[in-house]
Amino acid sequence: MPLGRRGLASSADPYDVVVIGGGPGGYVAAIKAGQLGLKTACIESRGALGGTCLNVGCIPSKAMLNNSHLYHQAAHDFKSRGIDVKDVSVNLAQMLKAKDKAVTGLTKGVEGLLKKNKVDYLKGFGSFAGPTTVNVKLNDGGETQVEAKNIIIATGSEVTPFPGIEIDEEQIVSSTGALELKKVPEKMIVIGGGVIGLEMGSVWSRLGAKVEVVEFLGAIGGAGMDGEVSKSFQKLLEKQGLKFSLGKKVLDAEKRDGKVYLNVEDAKSGKKEQIDADVVLVAIGRRPVTEGLNLEAIGVEKDNKGRIVVDDQYNTTCKGVKCIGDATFGPMLAHKAEEEGIAAVEIIKHGHGHVNYGAIPAVVYTHPEVAWVGKTAEDLKNEGVEFNVGSFPYIANSRGKTNGDTDGFVKFLVEKQTDKVLGVHIIGPNAGEQIASAVLAIEYSASAEDIARTCHAHPTLSEAFKEAAMAAYDKPIHF
Ligand SMILES: Cc1cc2nc3c(=O)[nH]c(=O)nc-3n(C[C@H](O)[C@H](O)[C@H](O)COP(=O)(O)OP(=O)(O)OC[C@H]3O[C@@H](n4cnc5c(N)ncnc54)[C@H](O)[C@@H]3O)c2cc1C
Repeated sequence: MPLGRRGLASSADPYDVVVIGGGPGGYVAAIKAGQLGLKTACIESRGALGGTCLNVGCIPSKAMLNNSHLYHQAAHDFKSRGIDVKDVSVNLAQMLKAKDKAVTGLTKGVEGLLKKNKVDYLKGFGSFAGPTTVNVKLNDGGETQVEAKNIIIATGSEVTPFPGIEIDEEQIVSSTGALELKKVPEKMIVIGGGVIGLEMGSVWSRLGAKVEVVEFLGAIGGAGMDGEVSKSFQKLLEKQGLKFSLGKKVLDAEKRDGKVYLNVEDAKSGKKEQIDADVVLVAIGRRPVTEGLNLEAIGVEKDNKGRIVVDDQYNTTCKGVKCIGDATFGPMLAHKAEEEGIAAVEIIKHGHGHVNYGAIPAVVYTHPEVAWVGKTAEDLKNEGVEFNVGSFPYIANSRGKTNGDTDGFVKFLVEKQTDKVLGVHIIGPNAGEQIASAVLAIEYSASAEDIARTCHAHPTLSEAFKEAAMAAYDKPIHF
């Protein structure tokens, strides 16, 4: 018999929606449900809202990326711009404090938004007692139980462990430990050349560490990054001092005399070598969190990667239970989780809701940034789609020149027959902001000509975007 703590929903008065997990998927779903007048609760065990993204992911990493970039500019770039600053040095403790301040401000802000939208925030760990009942082990002791007509699992993801390498978050760190290092390491090895590895590698390289990225594949950037962009990106990062060992398989690690020794094997030749560093960052990916949910009891299925299986309305294999975000299929991105949170709740309330998975942008927040949406040239070739390419380099863009920030290019991929935009790939300053225009273009099925004939302000970086569209359907003016 449900216990129904005072003020919480009992079987007689169930919630319309209970969300398990307060990350970008879960808290956005909860807010949307509150806005739609649904009686809602959000269960979060971390002690703070915002999930991986706000606490140990997007937000703290971007705070470190932004501030390490400013330091690097002040130390290495200001002089050539006519700004003389003396004694530029890193105050790491203060930089970490600034990051923590950004995190706390945002997580508290989310708590305020739940309150504003009349969502009950239950601080505790949720597990299924039945298809409509969730047990909550409260963080401050004791337990309660809530009943709901609809339950949304939004329990997110966690760092994928490297078999045989134990993460101690000091010498061998995950992305979480890499956001907390108390000292700039002399040498850092990053295992994994994906987005998180490259972002965190950039941070510590800018702050003075020698950074070597060891990647099993032959290219950096991970799935979805256009091949030409990946090559160019690697060259630019190498210019900044990062070293790449591609096609190398890390076998194991040993801690000795204050260092970490990695045994590494060449993926092709099988030749072995040992490399060492003061700190090793394990960044080989993330896996869904479903431990402790008691999914077996309600018949929720998972696939062979541990992802909760859902249909196109986010329904799991248990009626009334949906799943969104990193815990299920699709790219592990905060904005993807948010979109799914909104769609899932709209389906509950109205019977329909939608996410366009062909128009989800991805951004790497290095300098220059890399951003893309839609298909890569490799995808289109594999699919046998005939396409035109239009590129424009920032070296020919007036604002890029003015700012002394000219690395990179914009690349449009458009359908040959119709000129419809199929993919946009940008490597360059502020690519993460510029990609929003490309997402709109894809969402509204724009052609390259539509964009090329749209007036863009001068002098802006966005003119490179327009000119790349011009190059795709006709010719650019300035290159
Ligand atoms: C270093 C790093 C940088 C990143 N940068 C970006 C970026 O720039 N842009 C981007 O889009 N994405 C980024 N990501 C990915 C992004 O953080 C995730 O895709 C996003 O947080 C997923 O949202 P979610 O709501 O599905 O899950 P999460 O954010 O993982 O939230 C799930 C929450 O559920 C809680 N929980 C789990 N089980 C239970 C339970 N049984 N009961 C109660 N609570 C539970 C967890 O404590 C957690 O707070 C980054 C990730 C990392 C690690």
